[in-house]
Order: sequence, then structure tokens, then C-alpha cells
Amino acid sequence: MLVVVALGGNAILQRGEPLECSVQRENIRTAARSIAKLAENHQVVLTHGNGPQVGLLALMNEAYSDVAPYPLDALGAQTQGMIGFMFEQELRNFMPDRKVCTVSTQTLVDPQDPAFSDPDKFVGPVYSKQQAEELLKKNPGWAIKADGKYFRRVVPSPMPSEILELPSLRHLLSSGDITVICGGGGGIPVKRINGKLEGVEAVIDKDRASRVLARDIGADALLILTDVAAVATQYGDPASQDIRLATPDKMDSFGFSAGSMGPKVEAANGFVRDGGKLSGIGSLEQAAEIIEGLAGTTIKAEVENEIQYYSSIEQAAGF
Ligand code: ADP
Ligand code: MG
Repeated sequence: MLVVVALGGNAILQRGEPLECSVQRENIRTAARSIAKLAENHQVVLTHGNGPQVGLLALMNEAYSDVAPYPLDALGAQTQGMIGFMFEQELRNFMPDRKVCTVSTQTLVDPQDPAFSDPDKFVGPVYSKQQAEELLKKNPGWAIKADGKYFRRVVPSPMPSEILELPSLRHLLSSGDITVICGGGGGIPVKRINGKLEGVEAVIDKDRASRVLARDIGADALLILTDVAAVATQYGDPASQDIRLATPDKMDSFGFSAGSMGPKVEAANGFVRDGGKLSGIGSLEQAAEIIEGLAGTTIKAEVENEIQYYSSIEQAAGF
């Protein structure tokens, strides 16, 4: 199968972990091991998030405040280079006989998107309330929101409409044997003004961009890998159940958090509604198991009884 695998930026640098190169490298190695196993039997297109990394670069900007800061599109491009390079290297180490290629990717957005006046995409490290208040004083243009028990900077996250490199990506994929890394951080956000491309101050949600990519390259499956084993019906509640298999309509009947699980379920549902065979959401260590329906949450158009859950024993064991 042709599989788009979308990896979480927060899974690459987990909340509360130091935003350090060695930590990121170790998490990328773990993910690459899992993706190399998947790539034994499937053609993989890998996309990844960049929330923690792009926010860190924005903070590094502050250290050289004599000049205008680099805008978010330029920072997004930097994260594609850095994360793409690390993934490519780790994937090559796990599968030295295979071809791996990273493609810098631009994603078109509508400059009138309402997201520009309502920033909601978390970027950078987490802060205490007091740190957040100090940062807001120093950077009056920033917006900060609560992310669970922490606080984080938020930036506009417009809807992706088109991936500009699509024809070139199709060309690469027609070879059938190249593992392609692209669409990092949802793609570098750009707009077209009077026919000319310009960067945009935003960070696109990588789950939404991966849905557009998966649809437009005609992928069979979309896997969204993160730091939880499956989608929980009521995350954090003792009565919650882990979903094994469900239809998009059934998934829609639960309310999932806007800043985290919500966009994943929205993308996974959308891909199946657009005609994709299946979507999977689960742990970045279980890519090969999720595609077989042996782990994670699978979303398909046709499911017996509309939904099936993992048993409480499987849940307790983290299956
Ligand atoms: P990523 O960087 O992988 O996109 P996110 O933090 O955006 O990571 O999303 C994954 C997080 O979503 C999990 O770590 C978990 O805390 C949270 N989450 C919220 N709702 C749910 C749910 N219903 N089931 C599982 N995880 C959930
Ligand atoms: Mg996310």
C-alpha cells in the first residue's frame, strides 16, 4: 500500500522534555526504527510536525534583537531542513539499501483565512503562568494559551489548500521504491498574490496538511502517529475506553480536544470520507502493527456495529 505517515512534533520533542538536539535525535531514531519496519511492506511518505521546534527558533530570534526577526515561514523552512535531515539519516541507517529523499514543501493558504485573527496552534516550549506573563510583556505581539497544565505560545494555523510540489512528489512516488519525507510542519505556509508566491506568518497543522497530501497522491492509508497508543473516548477519565475500530460518523460523535486529538481525528475521518481505504491513529512505535489493525485506532467507512473497543485488559497492558 501507499501509506502517508504523519508524525507529531510533540512526539519528537515531548512536552516537558528539554528542547535539545540529542533528545530530538533519540525520539527520531525510535520513530525511524518503526517506520523502517513499515517500509519493508509498504511505500511510505513521511510527514512530520514542527510545533516545538518552530517555537524554539522563534525564541532564538530574540537573542539577536537588533534586526527584524525571521518570519514564521522562514523558520518553518528551517525546521523542515533540520527534522527532514535527521529522519533521512536515521532511516538510511535502518535501511541502508533503500532510497530516501527529503523534499522541501510549500503549502498554499488563503490570506483571508479566519485563523489569522484567532491564533490557536501551540508552538515552542511550555511555560509556567508567571513565565508566560513575563513573555507577553516582552513580546506584545504574541498570544499565549493554556496547553493542559502548562502555557504555550499560539500562532495562526490557516487551512492548507494545495501542496505546491505535488506534481514533483507524484513523479518521485511513481518510482515505487523511494521513501519520501515531505510536508514537514504542514508545509511552509505561502500565499499567491497577483500570481506571485509570498511567505505567510503562520504554522499549518501537519495533520490537516497530511490529509490533503494523502488524498492528492492517491494514498491507500493515512497513519497519524503520536505519543498515545490509541484514541480514548474520554481522555483522562477513568471510565474512558480505547477505540479499536470505528467509522468516521461514530468518531464524530465524541468531542476531541481542539489543540491535540481533534485535528488528528478530523484528518483521519476526512481522508476516509474522501475515499481513502483506512486511517490509523496510535503510537509512533507501532506503525507496522497499526496498519495491520493490531494496534492503535483504525477508522474505516464500513465497520461492524460502527465501533469496537479494546478490552480493559488490553488497555491496562498498553497492548
Ligand atoms: P502531536 O505533536 O503528535 O500532534 P498532540 O499533543 O497534538 O501531539 O496530540 C497528542 C496528545 O493528545 C496526547 O499526548 C494526549 O495528551 C492528547 N489527547 C487529547 N485527547 C485525547 C484522546 N481522546 N485520546 C488520546 N489522546 C488524547
Ligand atoms: Mg498536534
